[in-house]
This record gives sequence, structure tokens and C-alpha cells, in this order.
Amino acid sequence: MNKGTALLRQHNEKRTLTLMRNHQYISRQDIAKALDLSKNTISLIIDKFIKDGIVKEIGMDEKQTGIGRPRIQLSLVTEAYKAIGILIQNEFCKYVVTDYCSKILEEGQMPVDGNDPDRSIEELAKLCNTLLKKYPEVLGIGLAVPALVDPVEGVVHFSSHLNWREVRLKERLDSMLPAKSKVLNSVKASAIAPSSVVPQEVLTNSFYLCIDEGVGGAHIVDSQIYSGASWSAGEIGHLPVKADGPLCTCGQRGCLETLVSLPAIRRRILKEYPGVKFEGSILNQWNQADGLDLALDKIIRESGEYVGIAVSQIITLLNPKYIVVDSPFEKLEIFRNAVRASMENRSLKYPLQKTNLLFVANVYSSSVGAAFAVILDFEKE
Ligand SMILES: [Zn+2]
Repeated sequence: MNKGTALLRQHNEKRTLTLMRNHQYISRQDIAKALDLSKNTISLIIDKFIKDGIVKEIGMDEKQTGIGRPRIQLSLVTEAYKAIGILIQNEFCKYVVTDYCSKILEEGQMPVDGNDPDRSIEELAKLCNTLLKKYPEVLGIGLAVPALVDPVEGVVHFSSHLNWREVRLKERLDSMLPAKSKVLNSVKASAIAPSSVVPQEVLTNSFYLCIDEGVGGAHIVDSQIYSGASWSAGEIGHLPVKADGPLCTCGQRGCLETLVSLPAIRRRILKEYPGVKFEGSILNQWNQADGLDLALDKIIRESGEYVGIAVSQIITLLNPKYIVVDSPFEKLEIFRNAVRASMENRSLKYPLQKTNLLFVANVYSSSVGAAFAVILDFEKE
């Protein structure tokens, strides 16, 4: 087989894997049709996959009607390939081992000294080596870091969260491990993580907005995160949404993050109610203290309005099919209505009608997303 033919065949094999990952059962005929390839080409690929233990035949398609050759249903052997995903935080890391369809096979936490990159890398290498021995089918290791990350070189340029500067994380880990690593920003890792709540179709074209201790985002097209020329695309937390608003860590005033992140909301509540204790989540306060409700209503409604301003700019600039707002305020109608109204007042009407706005809370996992990034890269290679 010449080089061109071999490359083409490999490309078709990867496309077949992607298609099969998205279909629990599928026949050779349906794969050929979906990928616009000949049945013969698909048969050769599937024969090889069956021989390698990646695909198995399940049985006849019982729904098949009419004449024609009987269609044998195929299914991926999802444990034939695996991936490791790790979220690095200040005091610990969360890790998962997943199968090819992102089902978690093992998960856990390990203490790391997140403020010391050298020690963290040694601890991470030890953990990965243990997991790689246990799961030799692992394709690679995805690392989600709360930082400005160059995902191509795997360099962590800057993390205020971890106090890291210019850490060549991929290069250093790869030199200590038998598998390759992939480094990505933790919000962006969340954004591509498969979730049982959100349809997989969202990954075809969406903007993900996450409100937590900070505010971050990611623009996703065809399951790929758009990172920008210097890795900061999607940083919706630094869109200015209020003239003369609070001063942000970035030096601007009125960034979305200064108004709707959890620390910002806590600050606002404290201003209204000095001495309020934050035990558990902010929303526990919602129903606990008498008299808090009115002021909280106002704070949550205004937060929704700021989010709506940012979302309308995303609709105009990027025209995504889905916008996913991931926040602890998901259940609050007052928040959802305020986001919608504010967005509708400011967006171009045509793209607005075509945009699906979804509210979720805690349905994504950065470590599962990091593992999934490894699988997506494998299918792209
Ligand atoms: Zn800012």
C-alpha cells in the first residue's frame, strides 16, 4: 500500500470510529452511506476492527424490512481504548479513567501541592504511571488546568489560581511517561465533556458560559474548541457589561466576572447585609434568612441582565446554535427570565430566533472533558 492510500485508509478508519462512537449500534451499510464510502471499503475497515477487538457484531437488524442482504448490527468494544483525564486544582487533583464513550471506569482524588509546579508534576507522573500500568489501553492523558493554556505546545502560560508561570507541562510529563499528554484550560475541558443532560448535538456548534468562582467560556464548532491566536478566545468573563463597574483583575472596569461570579455575588450580598455568614452555597441563604429575599431577588435579576448582555454579544459575533449557561442559578426563574429578556432586547433578531439557550448546573466534569479531548485528538490524528 503506498503512503497516500495508507493515509486515506487511516483517515477513513478514524471517521468510522467517530461515527460508531455516536451510534450504539450501526450496520456496515449504514456506515457506508453516512460516510459516503463504498461498502467494500467499509467492509475492509470493519474486518480489521473486528480482528483487532475494537468492534463486535451484535446480531441481525430486527427492524429491517423488505429485500436486500440482512444487515448485521455492529457495536464498538468501548473498553478497547481508554483515556485518563485529570483536573489540577490548588490542593488536590481529580482524576478519571474513561472508556472510548466517556463512561467512567475509575475515578478518584489525590492531594497535590498545586502551588508548586515541580512537585505537582512529579506527583502527577506517579499517578499516571500507576494508572497506565493498570489500564494499558489508555490512548493518552488529558490535563485540565485553570489557566491560560497553549493546547498545542501544552504550555501553561499563566494561572492566578495555581500561581504557575510558563510551565512546560506537556513536555515535562511526556518525558516521564510512556503515553502522550494533552493540556487544556479547565473551563474549555468542561465545555466538551459529554453529559447525559445536554444533547451531544450541542457540540456541533455552541458557546459555553460557566459561572463559578470565576466566569469562563468556550466556543465549540464540530467538537473542537476554538482557542484563538493566543489561547484566550472564549474569555467571556472579561467582556465589559457595565460602564464604570467594579475594577477587574484584568485592569478593566465592569467585566462580567466582577458582577456575576460567586465572589462578586457574595460581595454584593455582604454589602446589603453586613455580617451574613455564607455556610454552604449562596442559594442556601436564599430561603434561610427572613428579609434576605428581596435584596437577593434584585441581585440575581441584575446578574441575569448582565449575563444577557454578554450572551447577546456572543449571538451577534459568533452566531452559535446553542448557548449553554452553566451556573448555580439554573433553577431560579428570576435569573433565567432576566437572562432571556436582556438577551432578547439586545440581539439581532434573526440569529436570536435560531439560538437555543440552555440552563444547566454542574452537569459537566473537567476531568471527563480532558479525557474526551484525548479521544477527539486520536480521531483527528
Ligand atoms: Zn476583566
